[in-house]
Amino acid sequence: MGLKKRGAKKYQYATIGEKRAAERAYYRTHKKERKVSSQKTYQKLKAKWMEIFKEHGLMECSKCGYNKCFAAIEFHHTDPKTKRHRTDGRTQLVYQLPVEGNIEELNNIVALCANCHREVHDNG
Ligand SMILES: [Zn+2]
Ligand SMILES: [Zn+2]
Repeated sequence: MGLKKRGAKKYQYATIGEKRAAERAYYRTHKKERKVSSQKTYQKLKAKWMEIFKEHGLMECSKCGYNKCFAAIEFHHTDPKTKRHRTDGRTQLVYQLPVEGNIEELNNIVALCANCHREVHDNG
């Protein structure tokens, strides 16, 4: 008595708190897997974009030719009206966007090193 239909459900918790604790534990263990898979997705997307940047000649500064470190290369929008994403400056943001539907924006972008980019904006 009292223990009727035990095992009828896969998981049974005495309290909602116990259930939530079990769910939290589940998410904790699966978070690792999710992180690894999102890192893989990120690497794939980054590689894809890097190929496209190369094709568009966006791997070096269009002003001074600097190409030593891509982290110092920024994207400047020649027409600010076409700017749909915050791709100006932190190029990492581009890696989070799918190639499809965003590639056209590269036509309105010039690559500038951090120094030249500051100069361009300072001169108006
Ligand atoms: Zn700019
Ligand atoms: Zn430059």
